Amino acid sequence: MECEYCDMLSGKSKAQSLYEDDAVIVAVKDMAYTPGQITIFPRKHFTILEQVPDEIMARCLAVADKTSRAVFEVFQAEGTNILIQNGLGAGQKVPHFAIEVVPRREGDGLNLQWQPKEMSEDDLDITAHQLAEEIQKLGDFTAPKKKEEPKEKKEIKIEEKESSNYLVKSLRRIP
Ligand SMILES: [Zn+2]
Repeated sequence: MECEYCDMLSGKSKAQSLYEDDAVIVAVKDMAYTPGQITIFPRKHFTILEQVPDEIMARCLAVADKTSRAVFEVFQAEGTNILIQNGLGAGQKVPHFAIEVVPRREGDGLNLQWQPKEMSEDDLDITAHQLAEEIQKLGDFTAPKKKEEPKEKKEIKIEEKESSNYLVKSLRRIP
């Protein structure tokens, strides 16, 4: 698979590495929203946020925070946008999860000023209800991510048991 960030690690990209450790890379690319933009990404290839293990995400965020301070210092930024473009529909250009730190100054001409629209009370209720239901299914956020495979297997076993009972019952009815 073609990946600009994995290419960078093998020296095949114009991007320049500023910092590397066993899990996280910090780089500047030849394409930037504003001068001084830095990109933080995991050394291992993950396409989207959902695939990134909690501990690596925590490392990426800590590095984004620290390197954001360098952006303030070097470019006299008045703010930074810490940006994750998660998926094609969100403007993600490279298929490798990354956090962008974008230096901002008043009048820099960058239009990230999304205007929120007011929702009706009904729409707000429906949205909150749908999301709350889905979020509850995700379980305890204080626990590390768990694999859901055992649960699925258990469900399959129950189905098998029920279907075999059904088969036994059906067989008994056959004279
Ligand atoms: Zn990659």
